[in-house]
Amino acid sequence: MKITDVEAIYLRLPVIEERCDGTQDTLVVRVHTDAGLTGVGEADSAPLVVRAIVEAPVSHTIQRGLRELLLGENPLEIERLWEKMYQGTLFFGRRAAAIQAMSGVDIALWDIAGKAYGQPAHRLLGGAYRQRVRAYASSLFGATPEETGRLAAGFRDQGFTAVKFGWAPMGQDEATDVALVREARRGAGRDMDVLIDAGCVWDSKTAIQRARRFQEYGIYWLEEPLHPDDLEGYARLATSVDVRIAAGEEESSRHSYVDLMDRGKIDVVQVDVTRCGGLTEARRIAWLAHDRHLPVVNHSFKTGINLAASLHFVATAPNGFILEYPITPSPLRDQLTREKFPVVDGYVTIPDAPGLGVTLDEETVSRYRVA
Ligand code: MG
Repeated sequence: MKITDVEAIYLRLPVIEERCDGTQDTLVVRVHTDAGLTGVGEADSAPLVVRAIVEAPVSHTIQRGLRELLLGENPLEIERLWEKMYQGTLFFGRRAAAIQAMSGVDIALWDIAGKAYGQPAHRLLGGAYRQRVRAYASSLFGATPEETGRLAAGFRDQGFTAVKFGWAPMGQDEATDVALVREARRGAGRDMDVLIDAGCVWDSKTAIQRARRFQEYGIYWLEEPLHPDDLEGYARLATSVDVRIAAGEEESSRHSYVDLMDRGKIDVVQVDVTRCGGLTEARRIAWLAHDRHLPVVNHSFKTGINLAASLHFVATAPNGFILEYPITPSPLRDQLTREKFPVVDGYVTIPDAPGLGVTLDEETVSRYRVA
């Protein structure tokens, strides 16, 4: 079997709002083969940047687009192809956009392999430690503390046992920050796990003060309170407070994660399979975390492709334990894949069909395709 094409498809809603929501546009990767099998992946990045990284023609040996690097290759040799992409993009790659682009391709290769062998991706990745995983409803904060509380109560009524709120208006002032967490807890009730995603808003001293103020509301973790470059700040914070510190969604490649774990001393390692280097790299990161006795979780704020790949990832990580389940309504999130991966009694079942277990809704693709 040989790769015959790598397609980068840019999908975008007609109106994009200025808010922290990754479901307003996306970049879908489709890898085609001469055997008639097609694999699907997704990259969480600036879509046109990823598209350029896929399509760029060779300019020298360590500066090539992913498509040229992969044409004619056997799609089943995934780890070797990952390394070929990493070396072939060395000059402009190694982190961020190039790794995000590789993520989309890598996920599509696992999809092809699963279809070729007639097995779900989780089996080819080493086997599932769990058949279903507890999901947390992942939402942006309401516009006010009170609205946040109402949202939390709504998620509890839908059967979720954990909820996360993130980003603005967190970070305006201490009173608002504390009120947001207090109302989230009030709406969620006593039994639900409440996770708080600060959205990179504080310096380390402020984050230590907030973590202490939030303690009485029993939050499960405090996510991304600091700028991702502030590794010394993360270390100060994580060693000063009792609440778990979670981070990782801005990172790409295992090298960045090693820094975050060893220098930043974080407690929960968040891995986005559509950013970190795909399922191949996500698995390596999970084992690096496991060696350090740290749990891993997915980060997911994209479409059903990311969610399906995340389910395979969380299932196959011995230290995986909960699933980020984005809940903000969006046409791309809700309609791009035919499979919806519903939450039943707070849990989502790991897909068992060959490959990722997703089918693209072609009508949705053509409705939102802009390039
Ligand atoms: Mg986050």
